Amino acid sequence: MAGELSNSQDPAAGGGNPAEAKVACPHCGTGMPASAAFCPACGWSMRPIAASDRALAALAYFSFVPAAVLLLLPGFREHRFLRFHAWQSVLIWGVFFVLTVAALFLSNVAAAMAFLLFGILASLAMLFLWIVLSIKAWQGERFELPLFGALAGRLR
Ligand SMILES: [Zn+2]
Repeated sequence: MAGELSNSQDPAAGGGNPAEAKVACPHCGTGMPASAAFCPACGWSMRPIAASDRALAALAYFSFVPAAVLLLLPGFREHRFLRFHAWQSVLIWGVFFVLTVAALFLSNVAAAMAFLLFGILASLAMLFLWIVLSIKAWQGERFELPLFGALAGRLR
């Protein structure tokens, strides 16, 4: 409502009490304490994420193999950004894998045609998802898919 609520940031303003300082999310505009690491509304990282972490998060989507390795390595336990993307990757690839196995089990001549079509569409969807999610991770964004993202956000 008021212009002063716009998210222009003035580093010169504000006193010596960082706990009470408010910042606005550059992504969705939600206000939060300056100490917040992530926007509570959209999950945007409020701290710059190292290029190496962003590269690893993007790599996590390559398949569930790098994602699982990242989740298991003790060195990345505290990397919430990385672990979120790794969990989301594991969940997506897990569902894709289960659906593929189910299609193989259920195959008969009629179903084979349907699953061939389904398989092509699912593969295209996975290719699209993989590209989008890798780019989002590389940009340092905590991009949540419906369902998968909410679940990945709860996993640590
Ligand atoms: Zn936000």
